[in-house]
Amino acid sequence: MLRETFRIDPARWLAREAPDEPVFFYDPVRLDRQAARFHRHFPGEVTYAVKANPDPVVIEALARGGMAAFDVASPEEMELVASVAPHARLHYHNPVRSQAEVRAGRRHGVVSWSIDRMGELDKLGPIHDMEIAVRLKLPVVGAVYDFGTKFGASPEQAEALLRAVAARGGIPSMTFHPGTQCREAAAWEAYIAACAEVARRAGVTLARLNVGGGFPAYREEPSPDLEVIFARIADCAARAFGPGAPRLVCEPGRAMVAEAFELALRAKAVSGGAVFLNDGIYGGLSEWRDLQASQRLTVLRPDGTPRGGRLVEREVFGPTCDSLDRLSDKVALPEALEEGDYILFHACGAYSTALATRFNGYGARRIVTLLH
Ligand SMILES: *Cc1c(COP(=O)(O)O)cnc(C)c1O
Repeated sequence: MLRETFRIDPARWLAREAPDEPVFFYDPVRLDRQAARFHRHFPGEVTYAVKANPDPVVIEALARGGMAAFDVASPEEMELVASVAPHARLHYHNPVRSQAEVRAGRRHGVVSWSIDRMGELDKLGPIHDMEIAVRLKLPVVGAVYDFGTKFGASPEQAEALLRAVAARGGIPSMTFHPGTQCREAAAWEAYIAACAEVARRAGVTLARLNVGGGFPAYREEPSPDLEVIFARIADCAARAFGPGAPRLVCEPGRAMVAEAFELALRAKAVSGGAVFLNDGIYGGLSEWRDLQASQRLTVLRPDGTPRGGRLVEREVFGPTCDSLDRLSDKVALPEALEEGDYILFHACGAYSTALATRFNGYGARRIVTLLH
């Protein structure tokens, strides 16, 4: 990625530079603010799921803002965190690992490991005094994307795993991941109640309960009220576990970073009901294949002034020669949209830089950091 800095205003930068390629704008103040919001209001420890945006600048800023632990899923993510935030603790919450990956985790001093099957517990070898978080899966409620189909033990399997962890001298915890962009607290509540029941049946007292990520970013109106979700999580855990409830941990990815980046794309051609952009699902908008289109965008004329007026729904294509390269939903854009206009997509920090490819010679390569 090419890095530049600019004082605050993306519209002015676009008017001055007239980029023909996609550009990310990174606002470190928005990242700090969101991290502080999580730290202040989440009723437990906040960790960051590195996969959502592994830019070293993001990891470094979060560590500086007090993030003391990171959720990593691979040796490369461990190396990254170790190089940027050497004092951070690592939670290795990818429950299926090769032998070499287990060795890498031990070498990096991972403090918490998730598991969802006996074979993976066996693979860890001696677990004395290691935190082992048994990952539960339930049928999905309220997520836009189903994570439960790949990882996670059923309640019966989870109960057996918890007993095994306790019998082998590990520190028993539980974890789950409710999905992503979950707008309803019910997604967490169902899991918290189920974890309490599993622990009770296993006769094991949990040290910690990691409620995963899945917190919603502001992609459509209204802006999600994270504090309400946090309060419901706290209440539900207190009710489900009673006295001696486990300490809570969360591992947000999307909701932590989404707002800190905007993606500026340009209309290459406007043709009837269709718009061809200079980036699409193989680049910074790769998530738009699976999630609903975000309503949060601003259209700018090439001189940086806003293009307003009546909106019409249009089909949006990306730049590559692959016919899959179109957004799954139509997008409401000004009727007066013209070739050469910029579309500034807000809340583009999650699963964007991380997933962008260079397929067909396209894809965002520039990040402009906004200075305040
Ligand atoms: C992806 C992932 C997260 C982060 O999810 P978001 O929806 O981005 O908050 C957290 N925990 C686990 C185990 C994950 O796989």
